[in-house]
Amino acid sequence: MRSSAELPDQKPEIGYATQYGNARTIAPGVLWLPMYPGHGYLVGESGGPWAVVDTGIPGQSERIISAAKARFGKDSRPEGVYLTHGHYDHAGSALALAAYWDVPIYIHKMELPYVTGKAVYPPIDPTVGGPIGLVSYVAKHWPLDLRDYVRPLPETGALPGMTGWEVVPTPGHAPGHVSYFRKRDRVLLAGDALMTVRLDHLWDALRRPHQLAPPPPASTIDWIMARKSLQRLAELQPRTIGAGHGIPLSDNNLPMSLESMAIHFNPPFSGRYICEPALTDENGVTYIPPKTADPLPKIVAILGVAAIASLYYLRKKRNS
Ligand SMILES: [Zn+2]
Ligand SMILES: [Zn+2]
Repeated sequence: MRSSAELPDQKPEIGYATQYGNARTIAPGVLWLPMYPGHGYLVGESGGPWAVVDTGIPGQSERIISAAKARFGKDSRPEGVYLTHGHYDHAGSALALAAYWDVPIYIHKMELPYVTGKAVYPPIDPTVGGPIGLVSYVAKHWPLDLRDYVRPLPETGALPGMTGWEVVPTPGHAPGHVSYFRKRDRVLLAGDALMTVRLDHLWDALRRPHQLAPPPPASTIDWIMARKSLQRLAELQPRTIGAGHGIPLSDNNLPMSLESMAIHFNPPFSGRYICEPALTDENGVTYIPPKTADPLPKIVAILGVAAIASLYYLRKKRNS
């Protein structure tokens, strides 16, 4: 599989490349805004209707606005801000953008409780392991209140500002997670339905930084649905994939790689949502599985005992 560094070089349109240094066209009319930890995308052609897809963490709005002005003109405004789901690393700057342009924020109706102050996502599971698992001991779902601008995705399927794009429901990572797909040239904006970097295996991530990977483990609440969603995406046979995490990938072999991952991927070995999912409805969470045994206290205890034993041994040696 090739990384975006090996994408056929698509000539950047004048303006944005200098004003938004590292933004990059990954397909005609699709601009990737690299932001960490979660990326955003601008979709649309200059002079035509356009939209924002995902917005990164809070505080990214100025960068996105600056890129959008350079790309579409300083007085231009989008038809809407589209979210793949409501996690704060994707929806964090949505309110600031919607307020700036006075445009709606679109999200799947099953995500609405979590972005309107009605409910909080099921807790992040730090016991799934991997580097993200460790970070998750201090992470939590930051509540966002987008009430003034948010509305459910249009049921007609027509997405203002996103001509030729369709919504693909991809629940599992989050209750109402969606991806956006353009059939014409098979471009997929996948949010967290999958990643293009492995965050659950540090060695693998360092060895092969650009590769397809399952959703971020610690915040995925239903692994059976997550697998079904991957299979649904594989059926679309995307040729270009821009996800929320990892560098976008584009390659003719991508459909085969995705299909293989959808068939062969295994959820993490253990974790709170592995044996049973969190359950939700249109009002929020209805069931959260009990916590699983957390290996961290044991590891800390073992390290503590080892440290005390070493100190004792060193002191005894010094006194003898
Ligand atoms: Zn997420
Ligand atoms: Zn994310």
